Amino acid sequence: MPHEFAEKAPGASEAEQREAPTFFAQEASGWHNRVWLLLFGVEIALAVLYIFLPYGRLAGALYIIATVLAAGSVFFAVRFRRQLFSPLAWGLIAGALALAATGHGIWYWLDLHGLEPFPSLADFFYLAVYPLFGVALWQIGRHGRDYEALGDALIVGISAAVLAWALLIAPYSYDPKLTSMQLLVSAGYPVADLILLPLILRLVFLQRTRIPAHFLLLMGMFAYLLADILYALGNSKGWYAPGSLVDGLWLLAYALFMAAAWHPSARVEPRSYNCDAEFSMRRLYVLGTASVLVPMMMLFASGPEMEIVRVAAIGSILLFLLVMWRMAGLLQRTHHQAQTLETLASTDPLTGAANRRYLEQQLAVEMARAERNLSSLGLAFLDLDYFKRYNDTYGHSAGDVLLQKLVAGWEEILRTQDVLARFGGEEFVVLLPDTTTTQCQAVLERLRNKVPFGQTCSAGLAIFQPGETADALIGRADDAVYSAKHRGRDRAVLAEMSRESQSVIE
Ligand code: GH3
Ligand code: MG
Ligand code: MG
Repeated sequence: MPHEFAEKAPGASEAEQREAPTFFAQEASGWHNRVWLLLFGVEIALAVLYIFLPYGRLAGALYIIATVLAAGSVFFAVRFRRQLFSPLAWGLIAGALALAATGHGIWYWLDLHGLEPFPSLADFFYLAVYPLFGVALWQIGRHGRDYEALGDALIVGISAAVLAWALLIAPYSYDPKLTSMQLLVSAGYPVADLILLPLILRLVFLQRTRIPAHFLLLMGMFAYLLADILYALGNSKGWYAPGSLVDGLWLLAYALFMAAAWHPSARVEPRSYNCDAEFSMRRLYVLGTASVLVPMMMLFASGPEMEIVRVAAIGSILLFLLVMWRMAGLLQRTHHQAQTLETLASTDPLTGAANRRYLEQQLAVEMARAERNLSSLGLAFLDLDYFKRYNDTYGHSAGDVLLQKLVAGWEEILRTQDVLARFGGEEFVVLLPDTTTTQCQAVLERLRNKVPFGQTCSAGLAIFQPGETADALIGRADDAVYSAKHRGRDRAVLAEMSRESQSVIE
C-alpha cells in the first residue's frame, strides 16, 4: 500500500534538491529505473561464472572483483543517488562490503603464496563486516519505536540461537585440535549471525518487506546468513570446498544489496507500523512454533538415561501449547470486542441508525468523493411533525417504538451506500451519494410516505456544491426543513445554493 509510506521527497528542501548532484536528477524516469536490474544481472552472472570456473586464481580474482563491484555500486548509490532511504545505513553496508573485499584480497594473496593460516588477517576483516551490518540494520529500523516487533524478533532469534548453538557452535568447542584463538574466531561467525538475525527479523516484523528495496536488502541479509550457516556446517562436517555454491550464496547476497540500493523504491522511507494490529493468528503461530523448538531439541537431544529432562521437555511443550491456545482465545475475544466497540461508537442505541459522529465521518468522505468524481451528492434532513404531541398523546415509549419502526422502514428503502443517521431526537439525516436531484426527490417522497402510524414528516434536501463545507451543506438542508415546517409541514423543500430562496417540491 504505497500511500502508507511517506516519500522522503517532501522533506528535502528546495536548496537540498538543488545542491544534490544533477547526474541522477532525472531518476524518476528512464533507464535509471532499471539500473538495479542491470547490476543484479551482472553480479549474478559473475556468481554463476565463479561457480562454474574451476577453483583457482581466476575464480579467486573474479570473487574479489564481484565484491569490489558490490561495494562500489552501493557506495556510488549512497554518494550520488538522491533521497536514498537511511543513507548512513547504506554507507555502513558499503563499508562492510569493502571490508569483505579486503578480506578476500588478503585471502587471495595468502592462497597465492600457499599459506592457509587460521585465523588469518582475512578473518579479522570478515568479522568486522558484522558490526557494520548490525548498526546499519538497527539504523534502518530506528524510527520504529516498536518494542513489540523487537520482542517478536527476539523470540524467533533466541530460538534459532539455541538451535544454532547446538548444531554449529557446540561442535567447535568439542574439537580438541582447535586453539582458543581458533575456537574464538570459528565461533565468532555463527555468534555474529545470531546477533544479526533478530535485527533482520525486527525489520521483517515491522513489515519492511512490503517495499521492494527493503525486501531485496533483507533477502540479501538472509542469503548472507544462510551462506555463513552452510559454511560453518560444511566446515564442521568436512564437505565445504571453496568455489562451491556456498560461496555463490554470498555473491547472491551482494547482488541483492546492490539491487536494493539501486531499486527505485529505495527512496521510500516507510513509516513504522503499529504492531498491535499485526498481532494476528499468523504471528501467534510463528511465535508459538519458535518457542516450541527449544524444548523439542531437549526432547531429542536427551539420552534414554535422562528421563527427567525428556519428561520435562514434553511437559514444557504441552504447557506452552496450552498457553498459546489460551492466547489465541484471548486474541479472538479482543478482535470481537474491538468490532463491537466500533459498532457501538458509530450507531444510535435506540434505533440502530448511524449516529452523528459516523455521519460526520462519512459526510467528509462522500464530499471528497463527489468533488473528485464530479458526482452528485444529496443530503436530506427529515424532522417528524408534531412528535411532541404524539409523545404527549401515546406516551414516550410509543414514541420510541415509532422511531424504531421508522428507521427499520427507511432502511428498507435506502441502498447500502446511503447513510441514515439520527441527528437529534426526532431528526434524521440521509446521505445519498451518486444521486441526482430528481432521484433524491423521489427517494425523499418514498421515505416520507413510509412514516408509520399515520404520522408525517417535513424534509429539506440540499445538493452538495463543490467547495462547500459540511456545516454549510447541513445548514442549507436545515433551513429547507424550517421552510417546510413554516409552509404547513408534511412536505419536502429543495434548498437553493443561496440560503435565502427555497423551492417547494410538493
Ligand atoms: P415540529 O413539527 O415543529 O417538529 O414539532 P415537534 O413536536 O416534532 O418538535 P419539537 O422539537 O417541539 O419536539 C420534539 C420532540 O421529540 C420532543 C421530544 O419529546 C421528542 N423526542 C426526542 N427524542 C426522543 C426519543 O428518543 N424518544 C421519544 N419518544 N421522543 C423523543
Ligand atoms: Mg425537531
Ligand atoms: Mg419535529
